[in-house]
Amino acid sequence: MLIVMDKNANQEQIAQVCERIRAMGFKPHVIAGEDRVAIGITGNKGALDKEPFLSMSGVVDAVRITKPYKLVSREVKPTDTVVTIKNSNGAEVKIGGDELHIMAGPCSVESETQINEIAHLLKASGVKIMRGGAFKPRTSPYAFQGLKLKGLELLKDAAEKTGLLVVTEVKDTENLPAVAEHADILQIGARNMQNFSLLEAVAHYNKPVLLKRGLAATIEEFLMAAEYIVSNGNPNVIFCERGIRTYETYTRNTLDLSCVPVIQHLSHLPIIVDPSHGVGLWEYVAPMSKAAIACGANGLMIEVHPNPAEALSDGPQSLKPKKFISLLRELKPVAEAVGKRLNVNVLNETKSLELCA
Ligand code: PEP
Ligand code: MN
Repeated sequence: MLIVMDKNANQEQIAQVCERIRAMGFKPHVIAGEDRVAIGITGNKGALDKEPFLSMSGVVDAVRITKPYKLVSREVKPTDTVVTIKNSNGAEVKIGGDELHIMAGPCSVESETQINEIAHLLKASGVKIMRGGAFKPRTSPYAFQGLKLKGLELLKDAAEKTGLLVVTEVKDTENLPAVAEHADILQIGARNMQNFSLLEAVAHYNKPVLLKRGLAATIEEFLMAAEYIVSNGNPNVIFCERGIRTYETYTRNTLDLSCVPVIQHLSHLPIIVDPSHGVGLWEYVAPMSKAAIACGANGLMIEVHPNPAEALSDGPQSLKPKKFISLLRELKPVAEAVGKRLNVNVLNETKSLELCA
């Protein structure tokens, strides 16, 4: 149930409604809309009676939520949520509005030189968020597992020197405190989308969460995973479509771009697209990036490596710096065509050659 407050409801009236909800043994969630506050109720097993709420001062309506996901649904909040990502050095980015953002970097942090090179490339390109895995979820136990704590430190150092924000995967609850100390966005990987204890744990950190779609997750399961995070107290969730497993073998996954408008129809939370994992081959990253922006994604996550042939993970899907720079140039008009902005720097030939030596 959603309790809709009057436009002029005061803090005391809001607090009284929350108190009544708690007294019934349920949980109130205050949702600030553009011109009024609403209060979502979770924890009830069956339908609630509207009457006790309708008679309270400041309350204008009580609406039943029909969807199984409540707090992430548009029924609860019709306006788009804009997630703010910031760090203590003053870097700030908003995802979910008219401005699009790119999260880019290598699949894994491999060395100081590698991550610094990428940080400088991103800085020069005007990209504000750097990615890089330190705790890697690998199919094979014999594959490179990431530099772990050392990787987190290298990532954060490179980001601090260049003023970038950091997104990196949190693979388990054990390393969550360390990841949260070094990252500005906590990434939940596809393989962990239904790791419910991890979803609950990240909710207790005051950091935005990038939630990747599970390898075989339906859109409803994807929404329910976000509901775990939001209902446990963290409203700052960004969805990430990264491809799902189908019978197709020419691409690593099947990038389900229809997920973007569907999620945007059903939820107020932003959604970005990761074409790198979606297709698994660098040749298709550029066309699918353009398609993702064209269909309304709020941003992209792209793997870039100084030397993909030598990458310790996901080399075949990583763009070389030069290709990444030309992709950014091509994305700008696509963003404008759909009424969005992509504030990246269009680098000239000399500058890109300098960065891609
Ligand atoms: C990654 O971002 O490097 C990653 C492992 O992604 P996913 O969880 O989507 O496979
Ligand atoms: Mn990867």
